[in-house]
Amino acid sequence: MTAKTADTLADVEAATVEVHDVHKWYGTHRVLDGVDLTVRPGEVTVVLGPSGSGKSTLLRVINHLEKPEIGYVSVNGEPIGVKRQGDRLKELSERAILAQRGRIGFVFQNFNLFPHLTVLDNVAAAPVATGRLGRPEAQELARELLGRVGLADKTGAYPRQLSGGQQQRVAIARALALRPGVILFDEPTSALDPELVGEVLAVIRDLASSGTTLVIVTHEIGFAREIADRVVFIDGGKIIEQGPPSEVLDSPRHERTRDFLSKVL
Ligand code: ADP
Ligand code: MG
Repeated sequence: MTAKTADTLADVEAATVEVHDVHKWYGTHRVLDGVDLTVRPGEVTVVLGPSGSGKSTLLRVINHLEKPEIGYVSVNGEPIGVKRQGDRLKELSERAILAQRGRIGFVFQNFNLFPHLTVLDNVAAAPVATGRLGRPEAQELARELLGRVGLADKTGAYPRQLSGGQQQRVAIARALALRPGVILFDEPTSALDPELVGEVLAVIRDLASSGTTLVIVTHEIGFAREIADRVVFIDGGKIIEQGPPSEVLDSPRHERTRDFLSKVL
């Protein structure tokens, strides 16, 4: 067996994400009601919408943390959680789902770091656990990624010793450690004190300009205008409108979009 080495980020291939007519319901509550969405390689899509509109559920379906009742998601043409057999889609094994999920980074509102691991091991853990890298190589990669998010001096710290903005930057480095083709962000700055928002947005901006495919749920409208290739407005589990920020944010076509923007701007 050849030695596995910590690859640089440059050769990570940006993914295409396709959401095909996804319906998700809890009892009689239709949380996603026929969502179709395509995110092309390297595209930055910002998802906006009121609380309870289905934004987190959409990200969770993309990452296969939730299974849709109808429809499916594919990453680079490969259906997530289901396998094509002729015209039919068949459930994938848990192992195959885990392998697919390993190509998708997920950054949560509340960081979700492992409290008992150092910053370095938080970032190095997944490549070791999935067998992609040996521990020394994973730690080398973790050091490189922590440098990229401006935390080279915090490798030995524990999460509780860091500010929220620093913890979220560790969480982003951790997502990058699996060399994902796409990273999903669920309100990455909502839990932060206002003065710490900028440092996290700066890291996301760096990822956007490096050509990583990103899907970002955020209420930071100014940031969306600056970095999004496309803004998607979702309400009641449906995409109401989508397009470049100059259209959706500056001249929305739908009353519901105008109403939402008037509340958050
Ligand atoms: P958003 O992220 O846009 O605020 P969510 O996707 O979290 O919205 O939730 C959409 C709706 O689905 C909400 O009404 C929420 O209460 C409901 N919901 C989400 N997860 C569950 C669940 N596991 N069981 C029942 N209802 C849920
Ligand atoms: Mg949410």
